[in-house]
Amino acid sequence: MTASQDTIERLAQVGHRVTAPRRAVLDAMSRLNSPFTIEELTSAAPAVGRATVFRTMKLLQEAEVVCRMVLEDGSVRYEVSTGGHHHHLICNECGRVDEFSDADLDALIQRNASDRRFRLASHSLELYGRCASCS
Ligand SMILES: [Zn+2]
Ligand SMILES: [Zn+2]
Ligand SMILES: [Zn+2]
Repeated sequence: MTASQDTIERLAQVGHRVTAPRRAVLDAMSRLNSPFTIEELTSAAPAVGRATVFRTMKLLQEAEVVCRMVLEDGSVRYEVSTGGHHHHLICNECGRVDEFSDADLDALIQRNASDRRFRLASHSLELYGRCASCS
């Protein structure tokens, strides 16, 4: 099994070396159903230490190779990202995750923060409900 060439290339593009442990994490990711938990990832990459998996996931998020989301039950999950800032539509029935981005919505969020003299660092947005095939 090999990690998808795409994620390896994206990591390299942003100037990160694809070390053996990083490659093992990418390989494990490609074998899991998305979105996955960090626990599923650590079990799928038994040769890689837990701390290394956590550090690698942080790096992959910064490189926008992976994105993080919070499900309605509060659990945190990850998926291979299409890259760039986006929001998630999460189906509570089948667990399907779709992505969308909307510059107008982001501007509105920024304006709400500015109006309250809040210095916005980042935001994430998850919509919960039923996908088209479940409703
Ligand atoms: Zn995403
Ligand atoms: Zn669904
Ligand atoms: Zn946004």
